[in-house]
Amino acid sequence: MQVPAQFEYARATSVEHAIDLLSRHGPESRLVAGGHSLIPMMKLRIANPETLIDINDLTELTRIGVDAGWLRIGALVRHAHLLDSPVVSEHFAIFRDAERVIADPIVRNRGTVGGSLCQADPSEDLSAAFSAVRATAVIRGPHGERTVPVREFHVGPYQTVVGDAEILTELRVPIRPGGGSAYTKVERRVGDWAVAAAGAVLWLDGDLVSDAGIGLTAVGAAHFAAEQAEEFLRGRPATAETFAEAGRIAAEHCHPVADQRGPVDYKRHLAGELTARALRRAAARAVGAAAETEGV
Ligand SMILES: Cc1cc2nc3c(=O)[nH]c(=O)nc-3n(C[C@H](O)[C@H](O)[C@H](O)COP(=O)(O)OP(=O)(O)OC[C@H]3O[C@@H](n4cnc5c(N)ncnc54)[C@H](O)[C@@H]3O)c2cc1C
Repeated sequence: MQVPAQFEYARATSVEHAIDLLSRHGPESRLVAGGHSLIPMMKLRIANPETLIDINDLTELTRIGVDAGWLRIGALVRHAHLLDSPVVSEHFAIFRDAERVIADPIVRNRGTVGGSLCQADPSEDLSAAFSAVRATAVIRGPHGERTVPVREFHVGPYQTVVGDAEILTELRVPIRPGGGSAYTKVERRVGDWAVAAAGAVLWLDGDLVSDAGIGLTAVGAAHFAAEQAEEFLRGRPATAETFAEAGRIAAEHCHPVADQRGPVDYKRHLAGELTARALRRAAARAVGAAAETEGV
C-alpha cells in the first residue's frame, strides 16, 4: 500500500496553537515535523492519523544555542543543522559523529531532532547520543511546561512520555568543561540504520575517569544507556584495557534481537567493540579539550 488513508491537515502557527489543535482534534491527531518517519508509516497504513498538524512553521523551535551552562537544541532543528553547527561540535562532537552516519542528505535536510526522539525507534541514533550526554527533554502541553530526563523519555519501542496534547519543544544538554565525546556505528551500507552503534562522553581527572555516559543503539539497551559500564568506569584509569572491559560489561547487559541486520551474538559483539572504540575516541578528545583549557 503506497497511499495514506484520508486525513485532515492543519498548520500550526505557534507552539500554543499546535497544543490547541492537538487538544481540539484529540488522540487521533498527530504532529508532523520532517515527515520522514510518519509519512512512510502512513503510506504503509501502520499509522492512520485522522488529522495531521504541521509544525514546520514553528521557527521558535529551530534554534541551537548556549544558555547558562546548557546547550539548547530546538525540537525542529533538522539533522543537517545539527551536523553543521559549530557550537554543537565544539561542546559535543558525539552529535557531529552521529549525524554523519544518519541516513543521507535528503533525510538529513528534512528530518528533525524532535521527530527522531518522538519516533522512539530502537535503532534511532540520536536517542542513544542524547542518552549518553544525559540530556533533558522539555515538553509543553495544555497545563504548561515540564522537563523529563532523556533516560526517562522513552517508555518502550515507539513509545514516549509525550502525552496526546503535548509537544516536545527542546533538548537541553548540560555543558561541563574538559569532556570529550564520540559516536561509532556499524551499518550494512552507507546511510542505513545501525546494526549496532555506541556513543560515549567522558570526563577525566588526570589519568582517571571522573565521569562517563554511554549510549547504545539498536541492541535493546534499557533507556539506550549502558549504566553498569558507566558505573564501572568512574574512578578507573583511562586506558584501553579499562575501555575494553567497559565494552564487555555494556555487551553483557544489552538485549539485542536477531533480525535481517544480524544475529544476537554479532550485535552483542558490536555493542562491546563499538563501546570501547567510542570511549577511546572520547578520551582522546577529552585530553585535547583539557590541553586547550590549560592553554597547552
Ligand atoms: C531512508 C531513511 C533512512 C533513515 N536512516 C536513519 C538512520 O540511519 N538513523 C536514524 O537515527 N534515523 C534514520 N532515519 C529516520 C530519520 O532520522 C527521521 O527523520 C526521524 O526518525 C524522524 O524525524 P522527522 O522530523 O521526519 O519526524 P516525523 O516523521 O515528522 O515524526 C515522527 C514522529 O514524531 C512525532 N513528532 C515529531 N515532532 C514532534 C514534536 N516536536 N513533539 C512531539 N511529537 C513529535 C510525530 O507525530 C511522529 O509520531 C531514516 C529515515 C529514512 C526515511
